[in-house]
Amino acid sequence: MLVSAKEMLTKARQNHYAVGQFNINNLEWTKAVLLTAQENQSPVILGVSEGAGKYMGGYTTIVGMVEGMLKELKITVPVALHLDHGSYEGSLACIEAGFSSVMFDGSHYPIEENVEKTKKLVKICAEKGISLEAEVGSIGGEEDGVVGAGECADPNECKMIAELGVDMLAAGIGNIHGQYPKNWAGLSFDTLQAIREKVGEMPLVLHGGTGIPEEMVKKAIDLGVAKVNVNTECQLSFAAATRKYIEAGKDQEGKGFDPRKLLAPGTKAIQETVKEKMQLFDSIGKA
Ligand SMILES: [Zn+2]
Repeated sequence: MLVSAKEMLTKARQNHYAVGQFNINNLEWTKAVLLTAQENQSPVILGVSEGAGKYMGGYTTIVGMVEGMLKELKITVPVALHLDHGSYEGSLACIEAGFSSVMFDGSHYPIEENVEKTKKLVKICAEKGISLEAEVGSIGGEEDGVVGAGECADPNECKMIAELGVDMLAAGIGNIHGQYPKNWAGLSFDTLQAIREKVGEMPLVLHGGTGIPEEMVKKAIDLGVAKVNVNTECQLSFAAATRKYIEAGKDQEGKGFDPRKLLAPGTKAIQETVKEKMQLFDSIGKA
């Protein structure tokens, strides 16, 4: 059964480790993440963006697939199914479809409107036992080929949104989505410290987990980050393993074209990446 992310993140925040959110794109991805979590006895969050939701055939399809796997693969570790960077409408659709957690990304609205929409979702999620993530400030990244600098959130705005009753807060601390530019300035631990002082025990979320040096990730976890989002890194390792298989001509040997064989190296690569991240976040054995 899917669970809300609230309890796993509260435990992580108290015990100074973090739970990974791994974004999924298809059946292989989902199976790879779930099996790795089970094998390592780690709680896990499956992230689904609105685009990936459409790609996989809609939110209800995803809920059906994930719930089926929990049962058939005998997954007993805590698993949350979470909408990543949802619109207001997308959040409502996922709640309706059976997701156990949603992120409402109101960062592009004026703060007043972000507050108003967040308040409505806090009420709906509380009634249904669904965890809610909010975002303050915006997390930079590649858009139309231009890599923006990571912004830093205003700690007072973080306090205001945290007090609305959300369960976890994503706040920009210089992190960005996608691959980091060579001249990246690093995470702003002063901002993280200032935010933590304003929001107390609220679990913080670090987006853009691909390519942040390990020491910085560990320090961020020490300072209150309890959820780290990983997306690009699994895509890169899947692509590299698949490329290797094709370039070695293995798809042309025997029945190497069979999708179950063709997608196997990429799936295994995702499992390895997920395990490395669970080790880094120290969530192994915490289920
Ligand atoms: Zn993000």
